Amino acid sequence: TVRVRMAPSPTGSPHVGLVRTALFNWAFARHHGGTFVFRIEDTDKERSTQESYDSIIDLMRWLALDWDEGPEVGGPHAPYFQSERSEVYADALARLRESRFAYDCYCTTDEVAARRLESGSKVMGYDGFCRDLTDDQVAAFIAEGRRPIARFRMPDGSITWDDLVRGEVTFETQYVPDFALCRANGDPLYTLVNPVDDALMEITHVLRGEDLLSSTPRQLALYEALKELGIAKLTPEFGHLPYVMGEGNKKLSKRDPEAHALAYRDQGFLPEGLLNYLALLGWSIAADRDVFSLEEMVEKFDIKDVNPNPARFDIKKAEAINASHMRLLSTDEITHRALPYLKRDGVLTDPVSPADQQLLELAMPFVAERINKLTEASRMLGFLFVAEQDFALDEADRAKLVDTDEGQAVLRAAYDALARVEPWSAARISDALTAALVEEMGLKPRVAFGAVRVAVTGKRISPPLFESLELLGRDRGLGRLQSALS
Ligand code: GLU
Repeated sequence: TVRVRMAPSPTGSPHVGLVRTALFNWAFARHHGGTFVFRIEDTDKERSTQESYDSIIDLMRWLALDWDEGPEVGGPHAPYFQSERSEVYADALARLRESRFAYDCYCTTDEVAARRLESGSKVMGYDGFCRDLTDDQVAAFIAEGRRPIARFRMPDGSITWDDLVRGEVTFETQYVPDFALCRANGDPLYTLVNPVDDALMEITHVLRGEDLLSSTPRQLALYEALKELGIAKLTPEFGHLPYVMGEGNKKLSKRDPEAHALAYRDQGFLPEGLLNYLALLGWSIAADRDVFSLEEMVEKFDIKDVNPNPARFDIKKAEAINASHMRLLSTDEITHRALPYLKRDGVLTDPVSPADQQLLELAMPFVAERINKLTEASRMLGFLFVAEQDFALDEADRAKLVDTDEGQAVLRAAYDALARVEPWSAARISDALTAALVEEMGLKPRVAFGAVRVAVTGKRISPPLFESLELLGRDRGLGRLQSALS
């Protein structure tokens, strides 16, 4: 049975690359009816933070990518926090140190660097100096007060695996130096804990970013040792997902604003829109189709179809995919999902008053089909819920359309026409404004209604004008026209 995992380190704000990795692992697990394990790699105590952990959990909950084992849900391999698993690593480390697979190393980094300089070696990393120390040498180092770290003894030759995404990959081990497994104080390092946990959690497939490709030969070698020591049962298969490139064809980094996954939630993306877009970074459902549901992705997902070439992150495309998902939702659903944003943006109070609730339900049909992100509901509806004393016009729109001779003439005529409208309905409002501004004044509709729109909604982007006026009501509608007249 398939067991996959995501293993984020809770440092900093979660990256879209993490979401892509989570999604592909999740889809792989769900496709195969397997298990999706979520493990927190918080061995680095200095860099791990509660805040980062919380934001990863929030992100996963928002995306509704559910996990079968891990934080909050537990599971047979608990704990799923590496910070709570020190005994596990101490045990594995002790067994490696007792075996020929690891050795104690007393070198300082300065000594290693000096030797490299002297020998002119091009191979980076450790040179194997402590591989075969004599007892006397060890005794001398200890007498000097040195404390050893443990290093893994890389086998000679080459390491090859059949990468699920990239096909056959080979590393010559002469370029893969013996690597440290722990610090001098015994604290285990990523190089040890990541494969040990994958082994103990019986992970069958490791799908992760290409940035980790170079750690795979080391992990494969370590697996052989762990199997001989009876710690690992099997070696997982590996698949390395393509790099995500940002502007200027550089790897999307934490410094790029579009790299931060939670920013998409805050901007009002739908989780299904973001996930659909991120799926396209390496995978597609069909050559002629790029909008699909998660269910469809699960049904069709095959790791063999992932494209190894770097994928370009294109925010415009992400927005277009999100807009397509918005169009698939009913007005009620969009209302429901926009509500938290309307409250966050101060458009609605929390709880929403019955009158506002009613107005919202009347207004949303005109808004739902026009917005591409949930936050746009706040921008479109603000004018309807704002108290009159706080209502203000966009400065640029005002200068352009309201505070001009033509604008003032339009608004005066609009006021007079609307003052006589009865009943106050969108249809009557439309008739009255069309007669007064287009027919009598001979204005183009865009010009005529633009000034009225800015005066009553505050800006040029709003729900349809006549419906907006109807929703606003006669008193507020006329009042705003009046205030726009100087
Ligand atoms: N904790 C590692 C990271 O966040 C995970 C590496 C892996 O997936 O094997 O980069």
